[in-house]
Amino acid sequence: EAAPEPRSGRSAALRARMEERLLGARFRYLNQQLYTGSSQDAARLFRADPAAFHLYHRGFERQVQRWPERPVQRIVRYLRRRPASLVVADFGCGDCTLAASVKNQVHCFDLVPLSPRVTVCDMAKVPLAAESVDVAVFCLALMGTNLQEILGEANRVLKLGGILMVAEVASRFEDTRAFLKAMSHLGFRSVSKDLSSSYFYVLEFTKTGPARPGPAVGLRLRPCLYKRR
Ligand code: SAH
Repeated sequence: EAAPEPRSGRSAALRARMEERLLGARFRYLNQQLYTGSSQDAARLFRADPAAFHLYHRGFERQVQRWPERPVQRIVRYLRRRPASLVVADFGCGDCTLAASVKNQVHCFDLVPLSPRVTVCDMAKVPLAAESVDVAVFCLALMGTNLQEILGEANRVLKLGGILMVAEVASRFEDTRAFLKAMSHLGFRSVSKDLSSSYFYVLEFTKTGPARPGPAVGLRLRPCLYKRR
């Protein structure tokens, strides 16, 4: 005969469930702020509240674990097929899975260091010389509303003919053609598109020249908002 659950056990379980809900709610709120503000706003947010960053990352991990494949693994496979001598910049590197999985030199940029490899900075202004990297990566990291500024920074640090890899949540693209056109305005020609996952797209571009001045019309991505579960 099973003993009745002691009262303290029951309230501990209830508290755990409430905490779980609260974490979920805080994650969704932070996530929404990151997708609806600029990269500078994100930098300010996490500087003021580093705990929020760790909470965000726990929530992010939980989301991507539900997916059949992590997008960063596609980028890893892509790089492993190419010379390890290519220098990589990982914009919004998170826990540096990419750097840890390839032989290449990888410059890791994020707002808070989840790993000692991270250089803390806003991705709109990274401490790299112009035309110094072969591959720029944004893996689920195009979060700020100042997309043109962020991608302009990637253009600045990329060598001519360098590669830009973008992995993004599929539902964020409202008009892929318009997006690609805007990318060409920013000096990036589309080389290949992998739309095979229903969760995320992987887009490969090459740098054809500097970003042209003026607004890149069509450079829009929907915010990636998560529903309460
Ligand atoms: N690329 C990693 C992490 C993706 S989560 C992966 O695929 O696993 C998105 C990351 O972008 C987060 O770590 C977040 O902190 C970072 N990020 C968001 N805005 C940023 C900004 N303005 N500057 C630098 N990093 C930023």
